[in-house]
Amino acid sequence: KTGQLIPIIDECIERYNAIIHKKEIQIKFKAHPNTNIEVSSYYTYLIIDNILSNAIKYSNQNGCITIELLKKHNEVVCSIMDEGIGINRDDISKLFNPFFRSESLEHKDISGTGLGLAIVKKAVDAIGATIQIKSKKGKGTRVEISFNIK
Ligand code: ATP
Ligand code: MG
Repeated sequence: KTGQLIPIIDECIERYNAIIHKKEIQIKFKAHPNTNIEVSSYYTYLIIDNILSNAIKYSNQNGCITIELLKKHNEVVCSIMDEGIGINRDDISKLFNPFFRSESLEHKDISGTGLGLAIVKKAVDAIGATIQIKSKKGKGTRVEISFNIK
């Protein structure tokens, strides 16, 4: 079953409204023209929900999260950027391993199973998309998912 990308992202944001409000996080969502493509509803929801959950969880109080949709050649790139605690350079390559959780001091008080990104990677592969994660310790994290335009 397919659905449109923008309403799926809106629904994911909606789902976190209470915690976003409580943490006083500002969410900016910019969709450039021709980015509202048809995608697999189930997998895309799973992907965006998990990445947004991380962006919120690893943001500080009052943080800002930016979601951007951009058309590039035959792809639509969805970037989810936070200004949170960031990830150690050495940990980046392990993020998709099941149960991996960063052991840095900043991450210690934040709980989770370490399964979110492992599931995201499976979902991304299942729909023929790609994922890239860039991060700077103490500065923030940027996750980019590239969806093929059919
Ligand atoms: P779960 O998602 O299963 O509840 P989790 O968030 O710990 O638990 P993942 O989503 O797989 O697990 O993320 C793995 C690890 O990557 C996290 O424990 C955290 O250390 C790091 N991480 C992921 N996203 C971010 C982010 N946006 N900012 C900082 N660290 C992150
Ligand atoms: Mg997670």
